[in-house]
Amino acid sequence: MHNHEFYVCRVCGAEQLDPPWGEDGQIPSYDICDCCGVEFGYEDMNLESIKHYRQKWLDSGANLFRKKNKPENWSLDRQLQNIPDRYR
Ligand SMILES: [Zn+2]
Repeated sequence: MHNHEFYVCRVCGAEQLDPPWGEDGQIPSYDICDCCGVEFGYEDMNLESIKHYRQKWLDSGANLFRKKNKPENWSLDRQLQNIPDRYR
């Protein structure tokens, strides 16, 4: 079953083509999030570091890590709502 929760960045809520922590949410891919630039498996490995990285990203203006991928009607607020409750 496709679990949507496993396809979003835990830090910024951006949807990912491949699950950042694998199909079961256990094995990090060590890819970089296009949006916030987090490396899956490092800065997002526990709630504390997730919150820390997210705050740092928001404080710096929530710039997209790879700007060319910015969708036309991108909304930060809407994207942040994708973040599963337990990673907030
Ligand atoms: Zn992200």
